[in-house]
Amino acid sequence: MSEAYNYQLLLKHILEYGVNYAPKQEVVYRDLRRFTYRDIYERVHRLASALEELGVKKGTKVAVLDWDSNRYLECYFAIPMMGAVLHTVNVRLSPEDLLYTMQHAEDEVVLVYKDFVPLVESISDKLDTVKNYVVMTDDTMPETKLTDIEYEEMLKKASPNYEFPDFDENTMATLSYTTGTTGRPKGVWFTHRKLVLHTLAGSVALTGIRSPLRLTGDNEVYMPLTPMFHVHAWGVPYMSWLLGLKHVYPGRYEPQMIAKLVLTEKVTYSHCVPTILQMIVDNLPEGFKFPGWKVLIGGAKLPKGLALRAREKGIYTMAAYGMSETCPALTGGFLKPHLLNVDEEKKLDLSIKTGIPFPLVYVRVVHDDFTDVKPDEQDMGEVVVRAPWLTDSYLKDPEKTKELWEGGWLHTGDIAVMDEEGYITIVDRLKDVVKSGGEWISTLTLENLLSLHPKVREVAVIGVPDEKWGERPLAIIVPMPGEKPTQEELREHLMKFVEEGKITKWAVPDRFEIVDEIPKTSVGKIDKKVLRQMYSR
Ligand code: AMP
Repeated sequence: MSEAYNYQLLLKHILEYGVNYAPKQEVVYRDLRRFTYRDIYERVHRLASALEELGVKKGTKVAVLDWDSNRYLECYFAIPMMGAVLHTVNVRLSPEDLLYTMQHAEDEVVLVYKDFVPLVESISDKLDTVKNYVVMTDDTMPETKLTDIEYEEMLKKASPNYEFPDFDENTMATLSYTTGTTGRPKGVWFTHRKLVLHTLAGSVALTGIRSPLRLTGDNEVYMPLTPMFHVHAWGVPYMSWLLGLKHVYPGRYEPQMIAKLVLTEKVTYSHCVPTILQMIVDNLPEGFKFPGWKVLIGGAKLPKGLALRAREKGIYTMAAYGMSETCPALTGGFLKPHLLNVDEEKKLDLSIKTGIPFPLVYVRVVHDDFTDVKPDEQDMGEVVVRAPWLTDSYLKDPEKTKELWEGGWLHTGDIAVMDEEGYITIVDRLKDVVKSGGEWISTLTLENLLSLHPKVREVAVIGVPDEKWGERPLAIIVPMPGEKPTQEELREHLMKFVEEGKITKWAVPDRFEIVDEIPKTSVGKIDKKVLRQMYSR
């Protein structure tokens, strides 16, 4: 037997590295509390001791329901590092789906922030696997029948001397549920090995690979604006800890608080879905400009119009692409070295494309028979991927797993085109693309072009049934305040792009609906399923 230490890729090594490198670095929670990395490190140990007292062992599923907070960061480390499984619960699910996911996961301990106590109380008599609850609060303990254990009190009483064990790096660390627009949510899970490799590759990508969002300053400050239940806030809290950055956690997302934290804590780096960016841009006072805030945009297509409006407000954006099943990093609008000298307009176009792979990721765009599309930005196919951090399976669902991994590549269900440099652009989801007279019309391309009209604030395009063509595109538009774009104006705007050859004339919608609001999913994306139900009659 070799004496060599069998080093397993465990999350504890990320925690250890960050605290040793940056012990005095700060972790800030709203305008309420401040900690150093050392404090957080100690609190992680106390949390593990306390959870052990509550019966948490290797394999125990521990559910967390909280807004973005230092507490959540502590759970990101302590729970998996004990060998237990962190279930990041999507707090925006309906009570029925929430119950389904918590029963399906077989959660045994539930840590719940006070805002969600009524929600959990409403289903607690059916949560038959749960043995203990812990309530998290910023002030006083709310009245509840769930428990009298409060997180801060529990930590105070617990021992700071917990020893995190070594174990197999292939142990399950985290579990979350897809927000799937069809059927029940599906469980996706990641091991320590996958999370560690995702953290390393992501850190290289954020700091080492050329992009408009590269972290280059000595004083970069990180604040997530993707909920921590949504694929580990895209894994960026782990990366930021490894890099020793200051963290700012905003709690519940409120535009005023977000703007205040960006300015007072000097936040330089965030990530969010386009809807949140839209909310921030829309709520800023006239003439206001951030001193330079880099915001990675993923989860949905970043429309060029929004990227331009954000830039006027001092917010610099870049697109990234991934999904719940993929941990999530797959591609980003990184710049290849030989493209660094292209003009600003072209740079913007590259950075809002879906992009090129993160390190260690292989991306192909393939036809039904698995042949690769031509790199001509026209030929469409499905994006299939390989990376060391993709989920191996849907929890307890062999049938869906088989579909996901058909042919040894993970099927994303997204349709894309590729350019000659290898940059992909997602043009739609397989289930959203408009099939009109035998042609595929990309709803995302239409949304992007319509976003450039000065009177358009937000836009969604869906396919609606049509007797002659099978389906036709319908554009649903939220106008800029005080504006009322006419059908003719919008059609003329798109005809310019027909003339330039960017879209075919069949892609121009016959109808534009002007509305006050577009429905969103639980993670803030445009809900096309609901829109189709509303407009498909
Ligand atoms: P979720 O599993 O909820 O994170 O959703 C993943 C899906 O969001 C992907 O399969 C894509 O359809 C979509 N998506 C994510 N990032 C992008 C992007 N940069 N551009 C277009 N669609 C995206």
